[in-house]
Amino acid sequence: MDRKTIQEAHEKFYPEYDAKFKDMKIETQCIHTGQDPDWIYGSVNVPIFATSTFELPKAGEPMGKWCYSRMNNPTKFSLERIIAQIEGGTKCLVFSSGMAAITATVELVKPGEEIISINDLYGGTQSNFRDIMIKQHGIKITFFDFKDMNKFKELLNPKVKMIYLESQTNPNMTGVDIPEIVKITKEYSKEILIAVDNTFLSPYNYKPLEHGVDICVESCTKYISGHSDIILGSVTTKSDKLYESLHNYQIFSGTNPSPFDCFLCIRGLKTLSLRVERQNQNGLAVAQFLSKHKNVEKVMYPGLETDPFYEKAKKQFKGCGGVVSFILKGGIEKCKQFLQKVKLFHCAVSLGSVESLAEHPATMTHQCVPPEIRKKIGIEDGLIRLSVGIENIDDLLADLTQALE
Ligand code: PLP
Repeated sequence: MDRKTIQEAHEKFYPEYDAKFKDMKIETQCIHTGQDPDWIYGSVNVPIFATSTFELPKAGEPMGKWCYSRMNNPTKFSLERIIAQIEGGTKCLVFSSGMAAITATVELVKPGEEIISINDLYGGTQSNFRDIMIKQHGIKITFFDFKDMNKFKELLNPKVKMIYLESQTNPNMTGVDIPEIVKITKEYSKEILIAVDNTFLSPYNYKPLEHGVDICVESCTKYISGHSDIILGSVTTKSDKLYESLHNYQIFSGTNPSPFDCFLCIRGLKTLSLRVERQNQNGLAVAQFLSKHKNVEKVMYPGLETDPFYEKAKKQFKGCGGVVSFILKGGIEKCKQFLQKVKLFHCAVSLGSVESLAEHPATMTHQCVPPEIRKKIGIEDGLIRLSVGIENIDDLLADLTQALE
């Protein structure tokens, strides 16, 4: 049997294989979808296809899917099959970083068109929007808090091409009513795309595509891979048309990840549910502990009953994850001392991995956001953001207790 025949048989086989897991739970999908045992050797793990190019059957024939790894790579494709299914989508593309995934998404908007974006955004996304999209690409971006839906309706106009949201905002941990935003937007125009960065919740806790959103973005660097060992991003959709545009963008912007990173992400994904379930529990326990501590002014965590978003979060999310933000009494100096004193929590940016991290947004993740905008969106100098990992909760609370004294 020649290779072309085998490849064509696999093209028919894999959608049927993945479909078997479609109605199963995410725990099962993470282990089986996209991971059919290798056809020649029977390897139960997806091989790392460390190749830039593929031998073609014949010169002059259509080149097919497997041609050059900037276009497609089998390890990357397995990962895309898994993420597409666990997000509740049909097509996924993985990128060399979460930022590359975000850039590909917002590049769907053309000069002269408009984006309405949530204002409490990840600092890197804000810099991309302000320095590249607005200044270099001539795209109008309105930053909005999505609290007053009547004001939102007033912002909609024929030039708006995309609504850009984060399912849980960073670092203030506020939520927005995504189903309501979808309803209002789609009633106004079905042509407006709704994109959601779901990094802070992961598909284990929330699946935006199941609520009428068109594009779901993840920084897979965080919960999805979960071990702080790679930088990777994904864009998932149910639309073949959007997928084709994004794939074309990826091929010609060269934003594909390496097969080795895709392999590590597939490996990390197998334990997504175990890790995030523990992080949901640890995150809540840390938030409850901090909310009673005398040196803490305020805790932001939607899993707390006192949080303004509690009722909506309870209804929409399976859990609220491991990120807990809080304001320490005593401002920036106390924050610096706290970050020196924690022992289990590493003082580092990023989130969602197995180890606990602590950071100071005003001088770390959000230092590139101008101080007046930081103030406006509530990133105070005394704000600390924790990413709670999967360590034993007693050890984590003991570490916080000694650092807060
Ligand atoms: N989106 C969010 C919410 C983030 O927190 C980050 C990074 O911290 C990104 C996107 C960017 O992802 P990456 O670092 O993988 O490029």
